[in-house]
Amino acid sequence: MTQVNGPRHLPGIVAGMAPVHSEIVIDPVLIRKFDITGPRYTSYPTADRFVEAFGEQDLASALAKRNVGGVSLPLSVYVHLPFCSSLCWYCGCNKVVTKDHGRSAKYIKYLGKELALVGGLMAAQPETGREICQLHWGGGTPTFLSRDEMAELMQMLRARFDLAPDAEVSIEVDPRSTEPGRMAFLAGLGFNRVSIGVQDFDPAVQAAVHRIQGEDLTRRVVEESRDAGFRSVNLDLIYGLPKQTLDSFNATLDRVLDIAPDRIALYSYAHLPALFKPQRRIHEAELPAAEAKLEIMSLAIGRLTRAGYVYIGMDHFARPEDELAVAQRQGRLQRNFMGYSTQAGADMLGFGVSGIGSVGAAYYQNEKTLDAYYEQLDAGHLPVMRGLELTPDDLVRRAVIQSLICNFRLSIEAIELAWLVDFRRAFAAELQELERLEQDGLVDLQPDWIVVTPRGRLLVRAVCAVFDKYLRQRRERAAYSRVI
Ligand code: SF4
Repeated sequence: MTQVNGPRHLPGIVAGMAPVHSEIVIDPVLIRKFDITGPRYTSYPTADRFVEAFGEQDLASALAKRNVGGVSLPLSVYVHLPFCSSLCWYCGCNKVVTKDHGRSAKYIKYLGKELALVGGLMAAQPETGREICQLHWGGGTPTFLSRDEMAELMQMLRARFDLAPDAEVSIEVDPRSTEPGRMAFLAGLGFNRVSIGVQDFDPAVQAAVHRIQGEDLTRRVVEESRDAGFRSVNLDLIYGLPKQTLDSFNATLDRVLDIAPDRIALYSYAHLPALFKPQRRIHEAELPAAEAKLEIMSLAIGRLTRAGYVYIGMDHFARPEDELAVAQRQGRLQRNFMGYSTQAGADMLGFGVSGIGSVGAAYYQNEKTLDAYYEQLDAGHLPVMRGLELTPDDLVRRAVIQSLICNFRLSIEAIELAWLVDFRRAFAAELQELERLEQDGLVDLQPDWIVVTPRGRLLVRAVCAVFDKYLRQRRERAAYSRVI
C-alpha cells in the first residue's frame, strides 16, 4: 500500500532529459486545501462565459477578418461524432446512445452542409490557402461510423481543406466497436494518432460503470495501431470510479505499463449526478472515499513518473520522446479545446453538434442537440448557439494562463513586450494573491518570472485561476452575498 501522508517527491525522468518540467511533488495537505477541481482552461475565458448574443454573423465576421491581407494561419479542425451504441454510466460527454446506425448516415449529410457553409466563408479569398495542421475526430464514439461513412467524411473534409502532409490526424477509438482491420483502414484514411478509451481494466469496476471491455480487446487495438504505423497511442484512464481500490488500480497500472502507450490521460472522476443523468446509475456507496481517491491518484502518478513518463500538466503524461513532451521542453506547448497541443497560432474550427472553435479573438460553440443542429442547417444557417468576442484584457489573461498551464512558468517581460502592458500595475491584485500561494509553496515569485513549483504543478489550475477575472468576480460576488 502506498502511503501519501507526507509530501512525495517524484522526479520520474530519464537520464539526459531536462527534468525541470516533469518534477512534481504530491502534497496531500495542499491538494486538500486547493482541491483539483475548477476550470481546466482549455480556453480563457471559459465556455461558461459564452453568450447567446454571439451568433452566425459574428462567426462569419471573425472568419472574414482572418481572410484579409493574405493571412494563412494553419487550421486545427475538430469534428464531433456523438453516437454511442452503449452508455457508460460515468459519462459526461455530449452523446446520443442508439443502436440505429442509420442515424449516423443522416448526421454525416448534415456535417457536409456545415462544411460547405464554413468552407464557403473561408474561401472568400482562396489565395489565403489555409491548411489543416491538426484534425481530430472525437465523440461520442467515432468508431460507431461504418468504414464507408468514415471514408465519406474524410473525403468531404479534404474537398474543403488542404491537409498538410505532416498534419496531426487523430481519432478517439472505442475498442468495443473496433473490429479487426479497422485501425489499418483508419491509417489508410490518414489518421496517425489514436486515443483509446480504457478507464480501468478491473472487471468489477467495468461492471460498476457499465463498460465491459476485455484486456485482450484493448491490447489487440493497440497492436493493430502500432502495426498500422500510428505515431502516438494514448490510453485514457479514470480514477475515482466505483469499486476501485488502491490494489485494483495498481493491477490496472501493471497492465497499462506493460502495454507502454506513448501517452496516458489520467482523469479524475467527478460524480455530479444532478448534472449528468447517466451517473445516477452509479451506486454512491461504491465510490472510493476522498482519501482513498487521493491515494489512488498518488499511486498512479508515482508509478507513471517512475516508469519514465513526463508529467505534461493537468491530467496528461507522455514518454520523453513524444512530441508533447518535446514541445513542452522547448516551450512550444499550447492548450486548446482539444487539450494540450503542439500547434501554435492555429485557428480552431469545431464541426458537428456541440462543436467548439476559436477564430482570432472569438470563441464559438454549435447547437448542442441534434434537432437544433439539423434545424439551423436546414434553414441554411451556421449552427452557432453561443460564443464570445474576447476583449483586449481577455487576450492578455489568456496568454498568461496559457504560459502557466503549458510551461509552468511565465516571463513577465515577455508578456509586457507582447501585450504592451505594465504587468505589475495591471496585475497588482493578482500578484498579491500569488504571494499567498507562494507562502503555501505553489509558486516561486522571482523578479522577472512566475514559476510554478514542483509542489504547485498538480494544482496549476489554482494558479491560473488567480488570473481568471470572471472567476474572481464570481467569488467576490459570492463572498459579498455571504457577508450580506
Ligand atoms: S464514455 Fe464515451 S463511449 Fe461511453 S457513453 Fe460516453 S461518449 Fe459514449
